[in-house]
Amino acid sequence: MLNIFKIVFIAVLVSCSSLSQTTEVVFIQMNDVYEIAPLEGGKYGGLARVKTVIDNIKQTNPHTYVILSGDFISPSALGTSTYEDKRINGRQMVDVLNAIGLDYVTFGNHEFDYKYEVLQDRLNESKFKWISSNTFQNTNGEITAFKQNSIALPEYHLIKIPAYLKGMPLTVGIIGICIDANKQPYVSYNDYYSSAKKVYTSIKDSIDCLIGITHLNIDEDKKLVAELPELKLIMGGHEHVNMLHKVGETIITKADANAITVYVHRLIFDEQNKLLEIKSELLSIDENIPEDPKTKKLVDEWVTRAFKGFYDKGFDPLKMVIDLKKDTLDGKDETVRYSQCALGYLIGTAMFYAAKDVDIAFFNSGAIRIDDKLTGEITQYDIIRVLPFGGKILKVELKGSLLKQIIETGFSQPGSGGYIQYYGLEQTAAGYKVKNALIDENKVYSAAVADYLLSGMEHNFGYLTKDNPGIIKVTEPNPADKNDLCNDVRFAVINYLEKWNR
Ligand SMILES: [Zn+2]
Repeated sequence: MLNIFKIVFIAVLVSCSSLSQTTEVVFIQMNDVYEIAPLEGGKYGGLARVKTVIDNIKQTNPHTYVILSGDFISPSALGTSTYEDKRINGRQMVDVLNAIGLDYVTFGNHEFDYKYEVLQDRLNESKFKWISSNTFQNTNGEITAFKQNSIALPEYHLIKIPAYLKGMPLTVGIIGICIDANKQPYVSYNDYYSSAKKVYTSIKDSIDCLIGITHLNIDEDKKLVAELPELKLIMGGHEHVNMLHKVGETIITKADANAITVYVHRLIFDEQNKLLEIKSELLSIDENIPEDPKTKKLVDEWVTRAFKGFYDKGFDPLKMVIDLKKDTLDGKDETVRYSQCALGYLIGTAMFYAAKDVDIAFFNSGAIRIDDKLTGEITQYDIIRVLPFGGKILKVELKGSLLKQIIETGFSQPGSGGYIQYYGLEQTAAGYKVKNALIDENKVYSAAVADYLLSGMEHNFGYLTKDNPGIIKVTEPNPADKNDLCNDVRFAVINYLEKWNR
């Protein structure tokens, strides 16, 4: 009797479990991460907190994968400091991302900010897998895959979940697509849509589900889904604010930059490996999440190394400059390189007052590298994030004709780092005005100018060097005078904001 009861009981158990038998695959998504430590006075973000989240989720589900959808080697302010006599250049990012157990990334446009040799070092240091379906290395016209320790980066990756109970082994295919923004000569960018389709065609018979890691504009992500509806989930980047869009049955998500949030996606498959459901949850990375001690130690080490370089230059990185409270200062590339914006105006104003007795101030928008929005408490480190290259402010006396030419060159190239931001200029239907009067081509004006702009190296500004006949006089700041704010534009901005704050 007892045996029969046992058999019946087991049979009931098996049928119950087969009814509810599903496999869950979890993806933890970050995108556009440039900071390893928490921001805004420690309130948000921080990769040591992300590590805690990863560990907690992995404890309940071994099929958990951590994704970063591009943009992490640059632009990172810590990366502009030096360590072991070399510019850090994103080495701190790769080191910490290795430590938290990142699994898969794709390129973002900022991965190509540095020269090829730097990218190659970062590729070789990374323990995570790079997937690149549409970007390749261009060596004098010869197109090959980028390599990680001499192994070609794959155009896709297959995650294989072994069979359990009665289920079949499950295979999830991942593709990686990168935007062709600020193109670099050593990169070959293929069409997003045809590249994705080509890869899908080559793997469709061996996968149960296709997902994408992308670094595209949201409109391009939507178009990608329209072209390839087989994509079930797109974990995107490039935009820095969280979003979730549904196109047909496909989910497209982006988390907030700098791991202020992460997306947790749970893909639930039935025993025939049919995708039943995707549950996507946006998780805030904040003070409620304890920092993983080992990761925190590594983060602190890198911050100490990089901050030493900043202290040596006369900064106090952790000092608060201003509390913006709920206001934001938009430093995104798509803002500062396309329109006269509040942040550009602010930097221009700071230059104008630091240079003293000038008519106008202007600089190349490419000097702003934060590609992010500032809000809340702004520290000196945040100003370094905005203007990582610093540079001197030069006081330049120049002819009105040259001033006009500079303004026209700057405004003729929206999207480029040579698009200029200014203070003291008025655009009217009659023409450009300085000090309430149209620019007189024969008059001499005094301007506060970013030194890089006068190097002739800025895009389309080859003519703008100190020996241009339109330049009458250039006054350099005195490096020995520690009170001369013109020695570093960041000192000028910090000083201006602190005064404003009072
Ligand atoms: Zn980007």
